Amino acid sequence: MATDELAHTGYLAHTGYVDRVRQPLADREIRHLAWLGAGAIDEPQAQVRLLGAWGMCQRHALGFLAVEASLNEGWMFRPAVVYDNVFDRAVRALAARRLFERSRIAASLQAEEPCLVCEPDDAHRALVAAVPAEIVARGRDLEPLRRLALDTRAHWEPWICGACARNDSLLRCRLHLAADLRVPGDSGLAEQRRLVAQLSRHLRTYARSFGWANQGLDTPVDRAALLGAVGWCGGWQAIRQLLG
Ligand SMILES: [Zn+2]
Ligand SMILES: [Zn+2]
Repeated sequence: MATDELAHTGYLAHTGYVDRVRQPLADREIRHLAWLGAGAIDEPQAQVRLLGAWGMCQRHALGFLAVEASLNEGWMFRPAVVYDNVFDRAVRALAARRLFERSRIAASLQAEEPCLVCEPDDAHRALVAAVPAEIVARGRDLEPLRRLALDTRAHWEPWICGACARNDSLLRCRLHLAADLRVPGDSGLAEQRRLVAQLSRHLRTYARSFGWANQGLDTPVDRAALLGAVGWCGGWQAIRQLLG
């Protein structure tokens, strides 16, 4: 991926990316997300692409949560596992370095892969197309995710990137942190590390809560961490728009 991913993904409104985030998911996208959630996401090749892309782009990451929540009555096991793994990478990326810390952390925050729903593997197109229309109709329901976002809002709102929200918060999403680290100035690395460690901890608890031994041990802040992870990895516009 290009060295300046923030510019590459066309984050700024004039590129049209923000408008694209607003568009409802197309049938093809819902099919693809449902197919991944049904188990295809466990394939080693998909795991490599997800880790390399820091999950999915914000449109498809939030779409994945929405489709999973609507098809599984609010349960989001597979997204929780995906972002638990991605946040292991995030914790490593922000580790302290003795030399050239800013530029090395900025480099390690870059994605090496495009989103696997934006650029699907050719071999999977026929399998994705076979997902039944009934699943697509059910997967389109945004209400379960909207309810989760509303119920956990008090937990995830303080994690929003100040550059995404254009407010005075010093916290940054991955893309804006990488951009800040490339220019002189205080990027508040200690704060950013605290945020990433906090998200990682809650994601781990949430992912584990699907195992029989820990069932039901997740709390609202653990569930909020899934939204926090999507916002941190790809930006916060889509989540804020979900709540209108
Ligand atoms: Zn995508
Ligand atoms: Zn941001």
